[in-house]
Amino acid sequence: MTDWTRASAADMAAAMQRGEVSSVELTQAHLDRIAGVDGDVHAFLHIDAEGALATARAVDEARANGEDLPALAGVPIAVKDVLVTEGLPTTAGSRILEGWIPPYDGTVTRKLREARMPILGKTNMDEFAMGSSTEHSGYGATHNPWDLDRIPGGSGGGSAAALAAFEAPLAIGSDTGGSIRQPASVTATVGVKPTYGGVSRYGAIALASSLDQLGPCARTVLDTALLHEVMGGHDDMDATSLDEPVPAVVDAARDGARRDLSGVRVGVIKELSGAEGGFQDGVKQRFDEALEHLRAMGAEIVEVSCPSFEYALAAYYVILPSEASSNLAKFDSVRFGMRVEKGNVERTMAATRAEGFGDEVKRRIILGTYALSAGYYDAYYGSAQKVRTLVQRDFDAAFAEVDVLVSPTTPTTPFKLGERVDDPMAMYLNDIATIPANLAGIPGMSLPAGTAPEDGLPVGFQILAPAREDARLYRVGAALEAALVDEWGGALTAQAPELEVK
Ligand code: GLN
Repeated sequence: MTDWTRASAADMAAAMQRGEVSSVELTQAHLDRIAGVDGDVHAFLHIDAEGALATARAVDEARANGEDLPALAGVPIAVKDVLVTEGLPTTAGSRILEGWIPPYDGTVTRKLREARMPILGKTNMDEFAMGSSTEHSGYGATHNPWDLDRIPGGSGGGSAAALAAFEAPLAIGSDTGGSIRQPASVTATVGVKPTYGGVSRYGAIALASSLDQLGPCARTVLDTALLHEVMGGHDDMDATSLDEPVPAVVDAARDGARRDLSGVRVGVIKELSGAEGGFQDGVKQRFDEALEHLRAMGAEIVEVSCPSFEYALAAYYVILPSEASSNLAKFDSVRFGMRVEKGNVERTMAATRAEGFGDEVKRRIILGTYALSAGYYDAYYGSAQKVRTLVQRDFDAAFAEVDVLVSPTTPTTPFKLGERVDDPMAMYLNDIATIPANLAGIPGMSLPAGTAPEDGLPVGFQILAPAREDARLYRVGAALEAALVDEWGGALTAQAPELEVK
């Protein structure tokens, strides 16, 4: 019997079209898998078996009636709990939103429903997407399917772990400083942060509005592209939404799979290529090997310098808390979720926020409020915005020379749960390679580059492209994936140790 949970979304869709499997069977197989392994992995905060199966049944009926269906109709999906889903609990990983059932759908949720994709449930995340390990979730950490004692990345560790554990073939993520790409990197899955404005943020609980971007997560580049096309496009409900068609990312992925990169200029970011600063040996080694594959497929590899990236992390950790402190002011005990009654309004508000928010969220609210205060605004927030401009200029200069930029996605393979959770600086340093893309609004992808020889754990390869040129990520990514899968004799996710099914 075929184990459908191991298939790609593209193969699932094709098999449904050929009548080899129904959406109910696919959806049930994933629900069974979740029941079997999620006790250990803890990728999900909420499972909607009934809702998913109802969507699946409706798709199967429509297909039996010969209706024209969207490309991914009937393929189940997991949704990061940052995205608002009507009728389904939405917490953003925070206790302050415990029990909140949204009365409306975010735009991406609506698009998933229109695409007729069964929503399996909501995935775990660091509280309000602040973190790189899911250890800041108000509901307990997610475990990396490659090694249950290790972090699955964050903030979207739940979505990435669900993919790596074969609990879902597709997932939604959000990336403010790396929360799609870093989890993808440490779980050997694929994640894309689209161009800022390429996917509507309406109904995505805001962390830092000028940096946030929803994006697709999957186990293959083509699947990621298929989901990108479902999610993307202009939306009147988001004032920062780009008014142009979704880039042709599926065509680009198919084109890339032909493994011809002649004429493509690839820039290796000097500041992020490991020569300087904390990159693990095996990460560097797999990165260099991936470059050799790109060269063998005809790409021209050059080194590019982006000197202001040195200050990107510092600027991000001023801009992000500033915006977050403002965005999180709406959790006031009146409008959503938790309320700790304390006599009068002020005290109730203070007590609710004291109890509802975790330490990392409080740290950033305090930091952001400080950075925005009258006496310090220019010194901190103003300086950080100047650095942001310098980072953008570095990218502009680099993209005048090359088509895409590349680096390892993260400096190290996944670390142990508990190892960095009490050390904010060590946690923040995970994002050193992913943050510049958010500051500039450009698109980025992480895809598996192999496992590090010293620990057998996943290494991610990051590709960045100019704004609106998301298709380039998919062309180069699909080419590299094809070459590597050939070398490995199959997908890397298949090499993860078997989880015990309970
Ligand atoms: N890890 C980064 C942070 O803690 C990125 C978060 C994100 O992309 N949502 O801010």
